[in-house]
Amino acid sequence: MSAAASGSIRYDGTTVAGAQPESVLLPGHDVPLGRYTTVRRLLPQRPRRMVGAWCFVDHFGPDDVAGRPGMQIPPHPHTGLQTVTWLVDGEILHRDSLGSMQSIVPGQLNLMTAGHGIAHSEQSPPAHPPVMHGLQLWVALPESARHGEPRFEHHAALPRVGAGDAGITVVVGEYAGVRSPARMASPIVGAQIDIGSPAPVELTLRDDFEYALLAMSGTARVDGVELAQGGLLYLGEGRSASTVTAADGDARLFLLGGEPFEEPLVMWWNFVARSHEELVAARDDWAAGHRFGTVTGCVDAPLPAPEMPITRIKARDRHGRTVG
Ligand code: MN
Repeated sequence: MSAAASGSIRYDGTTVAGAQPESVLLPGHDVPLGRYTTVRRLLPQRPRRMVGAWCFVDHFGPDDVAGRPGMQIPPHPHTGLQTVTWLVDGEILHRDSLGSMQSIVPGQLNLMTAGHGIAHSEQSPPAHPPVMHGLQLWVALPESARHGEPRFEHHAALPRVGAGDAGITVVVGEYAGVRSPARMASPIVGAQIDIGSPAPVELTLRDDFEYALLAMSGTARVDGVELAQGGLLYLGEGRSASTVTAADGDARLFLLGGEPFEEPLVMWWNFVARSHEELVAARDDWAAGHRFGTVTGCVDAPLPAPEMPITRIKARDRHGRTVG
């Protein structure tokens, strides 16, 4: 059953008069990432900046990288966020300033928690599979976790759950009572949905979360709305279920969801923070070789910090409204 006509039930139990779950198609735009890769940036967009704590969504590929460098992102810093790297084709080697060195292949999760500061590189190894296809995602850390120590996790196997003819891999957070081992800091879900038949699939959702579905492969209909490959469909809050059908009986979607993230953020370059001053401090620390450490084993030179814009960067809430 779709909750589309029933109004939005908030988790405090009150019904918001006139509120309905939204369906907003966000097509994204191409952005170069590193020297050799182009990604489709699906978050942040205006006016939709976040889905739960998900604050940055890049979808890359499927790209033919046979005989090419593939992904080559030299050492760069992060603060205030977690990076989620997820592949459906290819291989990426992660190195960071904690000394981690970890290759991932499809079905595995690399999760890096920046806390107050970490640096990493992500690169296709010299001998890599011919196709690269995956996601680079950021999760904003709440105030209670964003000043913490950096850490890195690799999860080689993730739990799966069935929904009709679909197989769902719970990458982070929890879905349908199944919990990923990844350590997250707020109520969230990230899950790959593989549909291999034309039968409708009923996704159970939480009405206190907001959600979006990303079409990684194939075209799907989501509660009657067509979602083509590469698109992101924002589903809003207040849904207890969503019905998804693969147009050709074959689609791979990624479900992003979470409790609406109420802390206003500033985002610039690779930093998530709360004020312009924090961004300046992080940029200056990277330029001076402080705070973020050194990515050992990566022969490429670290990325230089770009110049800050002349104007102050204002904090924005999840609706894009400036705050303060
Ligand atoms: Mn990064």
